[in-house]
This record gives sequence, C-alpha cells and structure tokens, in this order.
Amino acid sequence: MENTNETEFNNARLEVLIPADVLQARIREMGAEIAKEYAGKNPLLICVLKGAMVFMADLIRAIDLPLTIDFIAVSSYGAGTRSTGEVRIVKDLDHPLEGHDVIFVEDILDTGLTLSYLLDTFRARGVASVKLAALLNKPERRKVEVHLDYKGFDIPDKFVVGYGLDFDERYRNLPYIGVVRP
Ligand code: IMP
Repeated sequence: MENTNETEFNNARLEVLIPADVLQARIREMGAEIAKEYAGKNPLLICVLKGAMVFMADLIRAIDLPLTIDFIAVSSYGAGTRSTGEVRIVKDLDHPLEGHDVIFVEDILDTGLTLSYLLDTFRARGVASVKLAALLNKPERRKVEVHLDYKGFDIPDKFVVGYGLDFDERYRNLPYIGVVRP
C-alpha cells in the first residue's frame, strides 16, 4: 500500500546517514575551534557554491569573531553522480584576497580536484594564509592529496544528499545528510 505520510524530508528513497542534531553539534565544535585559532584576526570565509551554502550559514554563526564572507562558484558534477574531473570558476569572488586569512568552506571533499584547483589558484593571489573546512570527507575517493584543516565527518564511499548537497539539483533542503537508495 502507498505510504500517504511520505514527504520530501521523510521518504522511503532516503536513508539518514547523519541526523540534523548531530550535524549541528559538530558544526558548533568546528566553529569554536576556528574562533580559538583565529582569535584577534578577521578571517575571510569563502563559500564554495552551491553545495556549501547551508553548512556556511551554520558555521559562521558558530564563529564568535568579526569575519567577512564571500562566494565562489565552480562547475562540479553535472547530472548524475560521477565526477567529470573538470573544474571551472563560474562565479569569481567579489573582493580581492590580498592580505586576507582565507578559509575555504566546502560541503564535501571527494576526489579533491575542486579544492586542490582552488588552492593553487588562490595561493597565487597573495593571501596571508589559506585553510580548508569541509563538512564531509570521503577518503576512499581521493585522487589528489588535499590537507583538510577543519573536518566535520568522514563518510563511506556513498553518494550523499541533503544539507546543501544535491542529486540533479534536488534534496539540497533536507536538514540531514542522507543516502538515496538505488
Ligand atoms: P571533488 O572535486 O571530487 O572533491 O568534489 C567536489 C564536489 O563534488 C563537491 O563540492 C560536491 O558538490 C560534489 N560531490 C562530491 N561527492 C558528492 C556526493 O556524495 N553528493 C553530492 N555531491 C557530491
């Protein structure tokens, strides 16, 4: 019989991998760690769109420091679940980076291609320092070595959605991290 109580957030195709309260607790810890390490500074947090926008919104509210934000968009996955390996800046930063203590905020570190490209590009733009924060890390999938300074969770090699992450642009609004059942 069809389940009439199904909604977008609570549906049989989705399996919860990291519940909302667990995400929130870990993000508060990450924010506190960043606030401690950047005490006396004014870090610039750069959100890598679109996937990291939900994480970014919660992370900055957990960092009790004066800070500034900016956004960059890179091409990543097209339709489906496979990386193309192609990285292209589709929306660049609004402000110059010279002299800033930059923290890149990513949703997930998968092959590492996106972040290693961004790091190489922005180190050349005269920043004071660059660090990386990612909510999720899939170590099994790494193709390029990338050092994560702030990491939320290690996850298995599964395609995840929710909390900003999409499958064909859907599911970004889930308050938890889920796996789409095949
Ligand atoms: P990387 O360049 O392979 O490290 O992947 C970077 C981007 O791929 C992430 O910022 C995501 O947008 C996307 N991505 C990687 N794995 C997943 C996943 O499991 N679900 C949704 N998007 C993913």
